[in-house]
Amino acid sequence: MKEKGLLIVLSGPSGVGKGTVRKAIFSRPDARYEYSISATTRAPRAGEKDGIDYFFKSREEFEQLISQDKLLEYAEYVGNYYGTPLDYVKQTLESGKDVFLEIEVQGARQVREKIPEGLFIFLMPPSLGELESRIKGRGTETVELILNRMEAARKEIELMNLYDYIVENDNVDNAVDRINAIVLAEHCRSERIASKYIKMLEAE
Ligand code: 5GP
Repeated sequence: MKEKGLLIVLSGPSGVGKGTVRKAIFSRPDARYEYSISATTRAPRAGEKDGIDYFFKSREEFEQLISQDKLLEYAEYVGNYYGTPLDYVKQTLESGKDVFLEIEVQGARQVREKIPEGLFIFLMPPSLGELESRIKGRGTETVELILNRMEAARKEIELMNLYDYIVENDNVDNAVDRINAIVLAEHCRSERIASKYIKMLEAE
């Protein structure tokens, strides 16, 4: 039987740079994972394409996916739904490939419950000050909104113990190197691969 792929979940507080790190992982020529494209009800941003960046859905379409149990997880984030299509994840893992999810923390928690053997990586800002300047750097937010986001980020960081690894995003390239190293090591973890060698012994 073919060995199943590893489910890799990258999450972390709002503003930490999950999207930037994920894009950097997949822009390397040696990227070894299959990216799971999410469904969302938010409008496409300039340059975003349906089926590449997201599957863009209406609220009705998204709610249908929920009611038909077609999502591995979903969450409402800043007024829009985001969710991971279940079939793609299942089929790709079955085919032996690693699947990479980049999702916010409520969704990561649901995946942890459903697929506890996944690899959960928490992306951490180097400091709260740094996070605040990244949130402010996005532009249009009011002071009140920034305070709300910072309060939400603190709560999100408190959930870091639910993860297997914490990677500081001090610099994108460093974060990518650490994530790739973690995945490589995880593939060699004895509880993940011992059964393969037990079979080898039995086949002798
Ligand atoms: P954005 O709108 O900036 O692309 O994404 C907003 C947030 O949604 C980011 O934190 C991103 O990680 C998260 N996100 C993207 N796809 C999914 C998903 O399928 N499920 C969940 N729970 N969060 C997602």
